[in-house]
Amino acid sequence: MTSEISPMEASFAARRKTRALQVGCVAIGGDATVAVQSMTSTDTRDVAATVRQIRALERAGCEIIRVAIPDAEAVRALPDIKKRIAIPLIADIHFQARLAVAAIQKGVDGIRINPGNMAGDKIAEIVRAAKDHQTVIRIGVNAGSLEKDLLARYGVSARALCESALRGAARLEDLGFERIKLSIKSSDVPMMVEACRLVAARTDYPLHLGVTEAGTRVDAAVKSALGIGMLLADGIGDTIRVSVTGNPVLELPIAWSILRALKIRMVGAEIISCPTCGRCEIDLAGLAVRVEKALAGRKKYIKVALMGCVVNGPGEAAEADIGIAGGRGFGMLFKKGVACKKVKEKDFVPVLLEEIRSLDKEG
Ligand code: SF4
Repeated sequence: MTSEISPMEASFAARRKTRALQVGCVAIGGDATVAVQSMTSTDTRDVAATVRQIRALERAGCEIIRVAIPDAEAVRALPDIKKRIAIPLIADIHFQARLAVAAIQKGVDGIRINPGNMAGDKIAEIVRAAKDHQTVIRIGVNAGSLEKDLLARYGVSARALCESALRGAARLEDLGFERIKLSIKSSDVPMMVEACRLVAARTDYPLHLGVTEAGTRVDAAVKSALGIGMLLADGIGDTIRVSVTGNPVLELPIAWSILRALKIRMVGAEIISCPTCGRCEIDLAGLAVRVEKALAGRKKYIKVALMGCVVNGPGEAAEADIGIAGGRGFGMLFKKGVACKKVKEKDFVPVLLEEIRSLDKEG
């Protein structure tokens, strides 16, 4: 999905210049676009289930995947997982430095640690291994696991999160390591936004954005769109993850919708559909669901307008690559702004999909 890129709208801040990193096949920071990440919810030790979920995430547009590493058995599963997936693999490790070193030695593309919960000599071991294997280290700080001294000084706050992330980076820099990415997460949207702004003002390491523990689908979408979106509009952010309680595949359409809405990456199907009102005489809600499902995971950008009636329908449909403006039991098909033909309601989905296929062929 990395080739479908459009420049950010001029109305937003210029993209913050960050250091360029390479995480497996995905470039991060520098001139690279914003990449979409996710994390598996399977038991990493169950290779088949984890690979199955990662492949589903790949199809939905995930570009970098993180897996939890709770023990040595999970580390042993990493090579098998890595060879069966196409996207970079990140090992997420807490507390146990030996697992981080072992994961690096197994060939993961990056690890995610919180140096605040590891001793200094253990960090040195991880850094030595990461240097040997050219591995990227993401320093992930979270409002739920801040260091005691920072909590005593600043409480749970944006300042404490910022200091924790910068302190973690400094510990790695002191060991001569700078292949670093930072993430600063909180379930509190204003706190997460402020913390990322503070960090962005004080370092040029790439930043991963996400509102953590964001809840189920609606809350997760709203909180992520606000938290991630405000920062992206400020030009801050190099990778993003929407966190949803439940199947992580649900995260991807939200993440891509955020990037499309801000015109950062024009990828997939953008559905423009009206809310309907008393003028609508077709099953527009059903149509929107069916079209969205049929185009899920699509890579090439297309704008599809599904409008209930002739009031705003022709105008919106004419702005889209393809669209339907509904009438009574029929709709007018618009293609690249031109009204093409009347279509019976029962034929909306097959006709739209056929026309989209023909648009794709035209390039
Ligand atoms: S496009 Fe027509 S049906 Fe849809 S909300 Fe507007 S007026 Fe109502």
